Amino acid sequence: VNILIVEDDERVAGALRSALVRHGYGVTLVGDAGGALAGCDEPPALVLLDLGLPDLDGVDLCRRLRKRSDVPIIVVTARGDEGARVTGLRAGADDYVVKPFGIAELLARMEAVLRRTGAVAPTVTADVGDTHVDLARREVTVAGAEVVLTRKEFDVLAALVRRRGDVLTREELVAVVWDTTWIGSSRTLDVHVATLRAKLGRPAVVETVRGVGYRLGDG
Ligand code: CA
Repeated sequence: VNILIVEDDERVAGALRSALVRHGYGVTLVGDAGGALAGCDEPPALVLLDLGLPDLDGVDLCRRLRKRSDVPIIVVTARGDEGARVTGLRAGADDYVVKPFGIAELLARMEAVLRRTGAVAPTVTADVGDTHVDLARREVTVAGAEVVLTRKEFDVLAALVRRRGDVLTREELVAVVWDTTWIGSSRTLDVHVATLRAKLGRPAVVETVRGVGYRLGDG
């Protein structure tokens, strides 16, 4: 699934690209509207569009892209720029995120938009034993009964589901769920894993890989 990122800030663009690639997406990066209109080799499944671009107003670009195709568009706006957000949605965007945003939030919005528009997200649901995880709806059921998780508990589980089969190091999990490399969060991670296991009543869903981190177990 190819994502077109239109973003002129190289640091933001680079961070976004590595995060999305880590989660199984293909990424094409362009720094201006000209590049976005030139298109990419593989038609994107979704466009992530920064509204503050050097060569053309992002809202105009959104309108032009929308005229050409039904590709889902998520606009990225600066904090407090309510006007741009509303104009972006009027110009045909499917959703928006406000800078600075977390990767977990962005992934959830992307999955929801891809699902709504009928495009394919890499992983939308997963079954582990009798535990069912729906990433787009952010719902978890065990043996058919809904389990209410906190936002961070769900994000930990979602990160493991998206990378099913891989071991995620504690640092990777902290980086994805808390958007920080702050080492103090590592303890917080363990607390969240403990409450997550307790709520699921299926401790084996989150498997400890001693000395490394965690992976999605087999329930
Ligand atoms: Ca910008």
